[in-house]
Amino acid sequence: MKLTLTATLLHICSALYSSIAKAAPTFALPDDCPKIVSRDEWGARPARNFTQRDPLAPYLIVHHGGFKKFCSTHDECAKIVRYYQDFHMDDRGWDDIGYSYLIGEDGNIYEGRGWQRVGAHAPPYNNISIGVCFIGDFSDRLPNETALAALRSLIKCSISSNFLMNNYTMLGHRQAKATLCPGDALFKEISQWPHWKSTPAPTEIRKVDDVISRPNNWAYEAINNILDFFKSLF
Ligand SMILES: [Zn+2]
Repeated sequence: MKLTLTATLLHICSALYSSIAKAAPTFALPDDCPKIVSRDEWGARPARNFTQRDPLAPYLIVHHGGFKKFCSTHDECAKIVRYYQDFHMDDRGWDDIGYSYLIGEDGNIYEGRGWQRVGAHAPPYNNISIGVCFIGDFSDRLPNETALAALRSLIKCSISSNFLMNNYTMLGHRQAKATLCPGDALFKEISQWPHWKSTPAPTEIRKVDDVISRPNNWAYEAINNILDFFKSLF
């Protein structure tokens, strides 16, 4: 009986300890920060695991969800964010939703992994960037002005809270990996924003140059054909 009681107490203590150790640290945000919809508020599943990172990030990476599912109310957006999380955890096998934050066309910012945890959105930038995803697919059109304003306000807040460097670099996901993300329309838009940098160039082009530094025409063409074939699948 005594043994069972001790074991139960030990179990409770260790569960308590690990939930404290894994709880997101709380801190007060400066007054110029927008309201951020917390994980509890959008009904997040707990992360299976996470890694802390140096919170002062030099990069901000812009994504879109890549699904033509859009939202204009909190309930609709929260539902899609939960869908993204399920997709990342169950299909991709990640520990949590990949992005640091998500933005809906309801104008809300949804907390993903937040500022202090390493994301799973744009290797090799995961541990040095904040990854922000616009909910929907922005190949053909831009997110509405409310959503774009939410990104500007999140950036301002990240800088004043010391989570993003003043002289940060903004990139679109396609500059880190061969992907269409964040969609042509959105990529064109952010490429006119002041902190966006053109280097690295989108990876589709860079990879070919990396593989063959002085391409023979036949090899260059063959690789381009293979890449075109794969691109046509997505
Ligand atoms: Zn992306």
